[in-house]
Amino acid sequence: MAVQKPAKLTIQTTLTAFSEYLSGKAVDSPRLSAELVLRKVLGISRLDILINSDREVSNEAYYKMEALILRRGTGEPAAYIMGEREFYGRPFYVNSHTLIPRPETEHLIEAVVERFADKGEFLFADLGTGSGCIATTIAAELPNASGVAVDLSEGALNTAKRNLKAHNVGNRVTCIRADFTTPLFKNNTFDLIATNPPYVSQSEYIKLDPEVQQFEPASALVPGTSGLEHGVRLIELASNWLKPSGFFIMEMGFWQGADLMKEFQKNASAWRDSAIIKDLSGHDRFVCGYKA
Ligand code: GLN
Repeated sequence: MAVQKPAKLTIQTTLTAFSEYLSGKAVDSPRLSAELVLRKVLGISRLDILINSDREVSNEAYYKMEALILRRGTGEPAAYIMGEREFYGRPFYVNSHTLIPRPETEHLIEAVVERFADKGEFLFADLGTGSGCIATTIAAELPNASGVAVDLSEGALNTAKRNLKAHNVGNRVTCIRADFTTPLFKNNTFDLIATNPPYVSQSEYIKLDPEVQQFEPASALVPGTSGLEHGVRLIELASNWLKPSGFFIMEMGFWQGADLMKEFQKNASAWRDSAIIKDLSGHDRFVCGYKA
């Protein structure tokens, strides 16, 4: 089925045609996707869609939007099509080199802001920065922060640089292309390590939404077989890289809390107050701890 081009092109008729097309294509939220495309290409607000729905749409704009709708119809995530996703109230460029920032991860930012807002200058690391959403947001929320953003993927790092610059914090965050599971930094370097590493197991991966499997980079999601590989390694490395009293926080899979807490306990003299933090849906989602 092709998109049925309306006889008269208005905001309303275009939106309806696009929503109907996407509804026939088993994609999530067809109406919302269609709305996002109209808002982006026509430069209109949500309110315009409601109150100016009779406004005419040019043929040129229609075909531009249709091209995006056809991509969405193949299951490509709306964030990649728009080239943008909001995270902690700020727009982030995203593309197929980067994971799309997830709302769960915003809670990691809250936990950091809570602990560092009143501190003096401090140095942080974001390991596996992807789009740079964690490093950018920490630097933008906390003017006393400077740090490093590490990723192995050049495409991701270029995207992170663009986001850091767009939010005027490029001067406080250095991007480093490296494998963060190797000994990269000196002991006692950072006040904060905040990371959302790949943590999906092979067996979970094959059950993920086909849109995720087909379009998002597997390397940003899957670290090995069990899903715990990077998490375990990062707890070990963080115990070296953090300064005394430095804070470590890492996103994880909802079932990984017990396994990761064991890693802190194995090296009990290096850590204090290690704990699990839940996300807003009530799932175990982060582990954290202070360097002793
Ligand atoms: N730090 C980025 C994010 O939170 C990328 C994470 C990743 O690719 N595993 O979205």
